Amino acid sequence: MEYEELLEEAYENVQPCKECDRFEIKGVEGHHQGSKTVISNFVQVAGCLRREGCHLAKFLFKSLATSGDIDGDRLILDRKISSKDINEKVEKYVKQFVLCSSCKKPDTELVEENSKMFIRCLACGTKKPVHKV
Ligand SMILES: [Zn+2]
Repeated sequence: MEYEELLEEAYENVQPCKECDRFEIKGVEGHHQGSKTVISNFVQVAGCLRREGCHLAKFLFKSLATSGDIDGDRLILDRKISSKDINEKVEKYVKQFVLCSSCKKPDTELVEENSKMFIRCLACGTKKPVHKV
């Protein structure tokens, strides 16, 4: 099976349910302010994925081709972007940086070794290189 397909399958397995409600992909909430987009629950979104806000923010800036800032609990994006587009990128982030590609569990952490980034699974021990954001 191709790597991409594995990830595709992995994501489908992550649905909130009674057994796994500790892992939830929260949708972004926000509004447009002038020519900017304000995500008001950004810290909670990153917290649900157990990732650093600044890492997720960097990924979003890059994949949405915008600049921006973290402002307290909020993320400000320097252009108007629909929440649908942002949520798609968050899902992409989860596939790349949160889910283990072997066992599909979200019990992973990002580690940096010799200036390379790896995703390490705490459940099955798999360690795979990931692209730096
Ligand atoms: Zn694993």
